[in-house]
Amino acid sequence: MPKHTDAAFQKCINPECGAEFDCGQAIFKCPQCGELLDALYDWDMLEVPAKLSDFGRRWANRDNPLDFSGVWRFRELLGFCHDTYKVTIGEGQTILQQNDLVADYVKIKPGRLYLQYEGLNPSGSFKDNGMAAAFSHAKMVGAKASACASTGNTSASVALYAHSCGLKCTAFVGSGRIAFGKLSQAMDYGAQTIQIRGDFDDCMRQVQHVCSELGLYLLNSLNPFRLEGQKTIMYRIIETLGWEVPDWIIVPGGNLGNSSAFGKAFFELKLLGLIDRVPRMAIINATGADTLNDLVNNKKLLWNNGSVNRKIIDDYYADLTDRSFSPHTCASAIEISRPVNLKKCLRAIDICNGVVRAVTDEQICDAKAVVGKFGLGCEPASAASIAGLKLLREQGIIDPDERIACVLTGHALKDPNVTVNYHNKKQGQFSNPPTEAPNDFDEIVKLIS
Ligand SMILES: *Cc1c(COP(=O)(O)O)cnc(C)c1O
Ligand SMILES: [Zn+2]
Repeated sequence: MPKHTDAAFQKCINPECGAEFDCGQAIFKCPQCGELLDALYDWDMLEVPAKLSDFGRRWANRDNPLDFSGVWRFRELLGFCHDTYKVTIGEGQTILQQNDLVADYVKIKPGRLYLQYEGLNPSGSFKDNGMAAAFSHAKMVGAKASACASTGNTSASVALYAHSCGLKCTAFVGSGRIAFGKLSQAMDYGAQTIQIRGDFDDCMRQVQHVCSELGLYLLNSLNPFRLEGQKTIMYRIIETLGWEVPDWIIVPGGNLGNSSAFGKAFFELKLLGLIDRVPRMAIINATGADTLNDLVNNKKLLWNNGSVNRKIIDDYYADLTDRSFSPHTCASAIEISRPVNLKKCLRAIDICNGVVRAVTDEQICDAKAVVGKFGLGCEPASAASIAGLKLLREQGIIDPDERIACVLTGHALKDPNVTVNYHNKKQGQFSNPPTEAPNDFDEIVKLIS
């Protein structure tokens, strides 16, 4: 019996190639033309429920781990493997919080802004959604060892999932580029951590080479099965909104896996007749790592039905190389200048009538402090979505009464250094440093404000 479902296959996104492969292979790039692959389905062969609320009903069954999982609860929408291979450690128990105080900061009307807290996942970031799906594929193809390049959260998530399902794990990180909360997780969860003297883009090149030479299973977001898991973030947002689609989804953009997955999720739901419209999407870069912003807004790069103008990208990357450009932002999770999912992201922008913006580290840190004060907190990269929303309101692209879901991708404790510096060194308008006090009751009482 084949391990993978007959309904699923992999297909090259390049329309001039379009090569197809079954899901029993772990290839990650089209062997014929080198482009990205999609996981696609013959929907008639999957028993997709007739209405989305049927997925929500699985909550009543949550002593079944697959029904409890915020990923596998939606399993017919990512039907690439049989249940016996499915991996779950309880991912996707996230909250969509309506937050009027953050709404006030970004000038959105009360009741209209929602924050999707992906920091509540087992390893503290949205990456766990993707890993639940990708490690199921890894088990299905019989992988023994896994690897990833990481700005931090991927390594934490890969290490957690790898060891829970008996695979070895090697994580490549740029030395000095990774936030302490994340590095501490990778080490604690038993990953072999290889610190490369270079940045994330260097790690990404090395890991692809190492994986293909040594036959390691690759867990970066060019793995199409990872993106299948990340689609469920969107399902959970609309589930909490009573299966209504918001007007906007706002997401930080790094390697562009999330934005790509979200576009695919909505395209498929629309195709299946499960939603009647697709939301708009805003993808937010940091100004110190703004390749997507530059290519889309300045170089006018488009999806163009899959015939992407390769020369624009090649020239852009050649210039980065000539200038020895290395991206820099305090939002280390999005400190990436050669995003691997660029083309899929262009497709998502096409599907969702998307826009791209870049925000400064200062705007990111202020937005992060606002989420910290009025919400459940988040790491710097996550706050790019709030800073981006504020900018899009100022530019009049988003109206104050539109319904908006910002994806907060990672937990506040991931990067304590940025937070402590912001407050202690009074770096921004919301800095809240500790008050020094002598060891004296009367003096202390005078200081309480
Ligand atoms: C990985 C990561 C990102 C970037 O997401 P992409 O899918 O690579 O664009 C953003 N925020 C956090 C917290 C992350 O861990
Ligand atoms: Zn191809």
